[in-house]
Amino acid sequence: MDRKFAILGDIHSNLDALNVVLDDCRAQGVTDFLCTGDVVGYNACPAECLKIVRELGCPVVMGNHDHYVSSSQNLGDFNPVAAEVIRWTRGKLSQEELDYLSGLPFVVTSMGITLVHATMDCPEAFGYVFDHLQAEANFIHQVTPLCFHGHTHCPMIYEKQVSAVYRIDAQDFKLPIGRKYFINVGSVGQPRDGDPRAAYAVWDPKTRQVSFRRLEYDVAAAQARIRAAGLPERLAERLAIGR
Ligand code: ZN
Repeated sequence: MDRKFAILGDIHSNLDALNVVLDDCRAQGVTDFLCTGDVVGYNACPAECLKIVRELGCPVVMGNHDHYVSSSQNLGDFNPVAAEVIRWTRGKLSQEELDYLSGLPFVVTSMGITLVHATMDCPEAFGYVFDHLQAEANFIHQVTPLCFHGHTHCPMIYEKQVSAVYRIDAQDFKLPIGRKYFINVGSVGQPRDGDPRAAYAVWDPKTRQVSFRRLEYDVAAAQARIRAAGLPERLAERLAIGR
Protein backbone atom coordinates (compact mmCIF):
# COMPACT_ATOMS: atom_id res chain seq x y z
CA MET A 1 0.00 0.00 0.00
CA ASP A 2 1.23 3.48 -0.78
CA ARG A 3 2.20 5.49 2.24
CA LYS A 4 0.80 8.84 3.14
CA PHE A 5 2.21 10.82 6.06
CA ALA A 6 0.46 13.22 8.39
CA ILE A 7 2.85 15.59 10.13
CA LEU A 8 1.39 17.10 13.30
CA GLY A 9 2.93 19.46 15.76
CA ASP A 10 2.35 22.10 18.41
CA ILE A 11 -0.75 20.24 19.59
CA HIS A 12 -0.34 22.01 22.91
CA SER A 13 -2.91 20.05 24.93
CA ASN A 14 -5.78 21.08 22.64
CA LEU A 15 -7.92 17.95 22.59
CA ASP A 16 -10.76 19.46 20.57
CA ALA A 17 -8.41 20.46 17.75
CA LEU A 18 -6.47 17.18 17.88
CA ASN A 19 -9.60 15.03 17.52
CA VAL A 20 -10.74 16.98 14.46
CA VAL A 21 -7.27 16.69 12.90
CA LEU A 22 -7.15 12.93 13.46
CA ASP A 23 -10.59 12.51 11.89
CA ASP A 24 -9.32 14.43 8.87
CA CYS A 25 -6.19 12.25 8.71
CA ARG A 26 -8.40 9.16 8.48
CA ALA A 27 -10.50 10.80 5.76
CA GLN A 28 -7.30 11.66 3.86
CA GLY A 29 -6.12 8.04 3.93
CA VAL A 30 -3.10 8.74 6.10
CA THR A 31 -1.05 5.61 6.88
CA ASP A 32 1.78 7.07 9.00
CA PHE A 33 2.10 9.85 11.55
CA LEU A 34 5.06 12.06 12.44
CA CYS A 35 5.02 14.54 15.32
CA THR A 36 7.14 17.69 15.47
CA GLY A 37 6.72 18.15 19.23
CA ASP A 38 5.06 20.42 21.78
CA VAL A 39 2.36 17.92 22.63
CA VAL A 40 1.68 19.83 25.87
CA GLY A 41 1.49 23.44 27.11
CA TYR A 42 -1.02 26.33 26.72
CA ASN A 43 -4.29 24.36 26.63
CA ALA A 44 -6.14 22.27 29.18
CA CYS A 45 -5.83 18.59 28.13
CA PRO A 46 -2.18 17.56 28.42
CA ALA A 47 -2.68 13.97 29.62
CA GLU A 48 -5.44 13.26 27.08
CA CYS A 49 -3.39 14.60 24.15
CA LEU A 50 -0.24 12.82 25.27
CA LYS A 51 -2.11 9.51 25.52
CA ILE A 52 -3.48 9.89 21.98
CA VAL A 53 -0.10 10.81 20.51
CA ARG A 54 1.58 7.86 22.23
CA GLU A 55 -1.11 5.52 20.93
CA LEU A 56 -0.28 6.64 17.38
CA GLY A 57 3.07 4.92 17.96
CA CYS A 58 4.82 7.44 15.75
CA PRO A 59 8.15 9.28 15.93
CA VAL A 60 7.88 12.34 18.20
CA VAL A 61 10.55 14.96 18.76
CA MET A 62 11.03 17.13 21.83
CA GLY A 63 9.37 20.54 21.83
CA ASN A 64 10.39 23.34 24.14
CA HIS A 65 7.19 22.98 26.20
CA ASP A 66 7.65 19.20 26.42
CA HIS A 67 11.16 19.92 27.65
CA TYR A 68 10.26 22.61 30.20
CA VAL A 69 7.33 20.63 31.60
CA SER A 70 9.44 17.51 32.09
CA SER A 71 12.61 19.11 33.44
CA SER A 72 13.25 21.02 36.63
CA GLN A 73 14.08 24.10 34.57
CA ASN A 74 13.73 27.32 36.53
CA LEU A 75 10.90 29.31 34.95
CA GLY A 76 11.96 32.68 36.36
CA ASP A 77 12.99 34.13 32.99
CA PHE A 78 9.88 32.92 31.28
CA ASN A 79 6.88 34.76 29.94
CA PRO A 80 4.62 34.53 33.05
CA VAL A 81 1.64 33.14 31.14
CA ALA A 82 3.72 30.32 29.63
CA ALA A 83 5.35 29.64 33.00
CA GLU A 84 1.99 29.38 34.75
CA VAL A 85 0.75 26.79 32.27
CA ILE A 86 4.00 24.84 32.47
CA ARG A 87 3.65 24.57 36.26
CA TRP A 88 -0.02 23.62 35.94
CA THR A 89 0.80 20.98 33.31
CA ARG A 90 3.50 19.42 35.52
CA GLY A 91 0.80 18.79 38.10
CA LYS A 92 -1.51 17.13 35.56
CA LEU A 93 0.94 14.47 34.33
CA SER A 94 2.11 11.30 36.05
CA GLN A 95 5.79 10.66 36.70
CA GLU A 96 5.71 8.07 33.92
CA GLU A 97 4.32 10.66 31.50
CA LEU A 98 6.92 13.22 32.56
CA ASP A 99 9.65 10.61 32.06
CA TYR A 100 8.32 9.88 28.58
CA LEU A 101 8.47 13.58 27.68
CA SER A 102 11.93 14.08 29.13
CA GLY A 103 13.19 11.15 27.07
CA LEU A 104 12.03 12.51 23.71
CA PRO A 105 14.83 13.00 21.16
CA PHE A 106 15.56 16.45 19.73
CA VAL A 107 15.90 15.08 16.20
CA VAL A 108 14.51 11.99 14.50
CA THR A 109 15.26 10.76 11.00
CA SER A 110 12.72 8.24 9.80
CA MET A 111 12.39 6.87 6.28
CA GLY A 112 14.54 9.64 4.86
CA ILE A 113 12.59 12.42 6.58
CA THR A 114 14.00 14.52 9.41
CA LEU A 115 11.86 15.87 12.24
CA VAL A 116 12.90 18.67 14.55
CA HIS A 117 10.79 21.01 16.66
CA ALA A 118 12.51 24.32 15.90
CA THR A 119 15.62 24.14 13.68
CA MET A 120 18.50 21.78 12.96
CA ASP A 121 20.85 24.63 13.86
CA CYS A 122 21.29 23.66 17.53
CA PRO A 123 17.94 21.85 18.05
CA GLU A 124 18.14 21.99 21.84
CA ALA A 125 18.28 25.82 21.78
CA PHE A 126 14.82 26.08 20.14
CA GLY A 127 15.61 29.06 17.91
CA TYR A 128 12.82 30.53 15.79
CA VAL A 129 12.86 30.36 11.99
CA PHE A 130 10.82 33.21 10.54
CA ASP A 131 12.90 34.14 7.50
CA HIS A 132 15.21 32.72 4.89
CA LEU A 133 18.38 33.73 6.77
CA GLN A 134 17.34 31.71 9.81
CA ALA A 135 16.36 28.87 7.46
CA GLU A 136 19.82 29.02 5.88
CA ALA A 137 21.38 28.14 9.25
CA ASN A 138 19.06 25.12 9.42
CA PHE A 139 20.03 23.90 5.95
CA ILE A 140 23.71 23.76 6.94
CA HIS A 141 22.72 20.96 9.34
CA GLN A 142 19.87 19.36 7.38
CA VAL A 143 21.14 16.17 5.75
CA THR A 144 17.91 14.74 4.30
CA PRO A 145 16.12 16.41 1.37
CA LEU A 146 13.03 16.87 3.53
CA CYS A 147 12.71 18.11 7.10
CA PHE A 148 9.51 19.03 8.94
CA HIS A 149 9.37 21.39 11.90
CA GLY A 150 7.07 23.69 13.88
CA HIS A 151 7.66 26.02 16.85
CA THR A 152 6.55 29.32 15.27
CA HIS A 153 2.99 27.99 14.81
CA CYS A 154 3.00 29.54 11.30
CA PRO A 155 2.99 27.15 8.33
CA MET A 156 5.71 27.91 5.79
CA ILE A 157 7.94 26.33 3.17
CA TYR A 158 11.69 27.02 2.94
CA GLU A 159 13.39 25.84 -0.19
CA LYS A 160 17.13 25.51 -0.72
CA GLN A 161 18.40 25.55 -4.26
CA VAL A 162 22.10 25.35 -5.05
CA SER A 163 23.20 28.38 -3.08
CA ALA A 164 20.04 30.32 -2.25
CA VAL A 165 17.20 29.84 0.22
CA TYR A 166 13.66 30.93 -0.58
CA ARG A 167 10.63 31.35 1.62
CA ILE A 168 7.40 30.18 0.03
CA ASP A 169 3.96 30.75 1.54
CA ALA A 170 2.36 27.55 2.75
CA GLN A 171 0.33 26.15 -0.12
CA ASP A 172 -0.22 22.74 -1.63
CA PHE A 173 3.04 22.15 -3.38
CA LYS A 174 4.64 19.44 -5.47
CA LEU A 175 8.26 19.24 -4.35
CA PRO A 176 10.73 19.17 -7.25
CA ILE A 177 13.54 16.63 -6.91
CA GLY A 178 17.05 17.95 -6.31
CA ARG A 179 16.21 20.69 -3.82
CA LYS A 180 16.01 20.63 -0.05
CA TYR A 181 12.89 21.55 1.86
CA PHE A 182 12.40 22.68 5.45
CA ILE A 183 8.67 22.75 6.02
CA ASN A 184 6.80 24.22 8.96
CA VAL A 185 3.54 22.33 9.41
CA GLY A 186 1.87 24.97 11.59
CA SER A 187 0.10 24.25 14.85
CA VAL A 188 -2.75 21.88 15.64
CA GLY A 189 -3.60 23.49 18.96
CA GLN A 190 -2.66 27.17 18.86
CA PRO A 191 -2.27 28.62 15.32
CA ARG A 192 -0.59 32.03 15.17
CA ASP A 193 -0.81 33.02 11.52
CA GLY A 194 -4.12 34.83 11.93
CA ASP A 195 -6.15 31.78 10.92
CA PRO A 196 -7.65 30.09 14.00
CA ARG A 197 -8.26 26.79 12.22
CA ALA A 198 -6.15 23.78 13.31
CA ALA A 199 -3.18 23.17 11.00
CA TYR A 200 -1.19 20.14 9.94
CA ALA A 201 0.40 18.81 6.76
CA VAL A 202 0.08 15.69 4.62
CA TRP A 203 3.03 14.35 2.63
CA ASP A 204 2.51 11.91 -0.22
CA PRO A 205 5.93 10.54 -1.23
CA LYS A 206 4.56 8.99 -4.42
CA THR A 207 3.22 12.22 -5.90
CA ARG A 208 5.72 14.37 -3.93
CA GLN A 209 2.80 16.54 -2.92
CA VAL A 210 2.72 18.34 0.42
CA SER A 211 -0.74 19.57 1.43
CA PHE A 212 -1.42 22.08 4.18
CA ARG A 213 -4.67 21.19 5.88
CA ARG A 214 -6.75 23.73 7.86
CA LEU A 215 -9.72 22.59 9.90
CA GLU A 216 -12.38 24.30 11.90
CA TYR A 217 -12.90 22.82 15.33
CA ASP A 218 -14.92 23.69 18.42
CA VAL A 219 -12.88 26.67 19.65
CA ALA A 220 -15.54 27.51 22.26
CA ALA A 221 -15.14 24.05 23.80
CA ALA A 222 -11.35 24.46 24.03
CA GLN A 223 -11.82 27.92 25.56
CA ALA A 224 -14.29 26.55 28.10
CA ARG A 225 -11.75 23.93 29.19
CA ILE A 226 -9.07 26.63 29.66
CA ARG A 227 -11.43 28.71 31.80
CA ALA A 228 -12.62 25.69 33.81
CA ALA A 229 -8.98 24.82 34.54
CA GLY A 230 -8.34 28.36 35.77
CA LEU A 231 -5.64 28.97 33.16
CA PRO A 232 -4.96 32.54 31.92
CA GLU A 233 -7.81 34.11 29.95
CA ARG A 234 -5.39 35.31 27.27
CA LEU A 235 -4.88 31.67 26.23
CA ALA A 236 -8.61 31.27 25.58
CA GLU A 237 -8.84 34.55 23.68
CA ARG A 238 -5.97 33.87 21.33
CA LEU A 239 -7.53 30.62 20.07
CA ALA A 240 -10.37 32.62 18.54
CA ILE A 241 -8.10 34.94 16.58
CA GLY A 242 -5.23 32.59 15.71
CA ARG A 243 -2.52 34.82 17.19
ZN1 ZN B 1 4.69 25.44 20.33
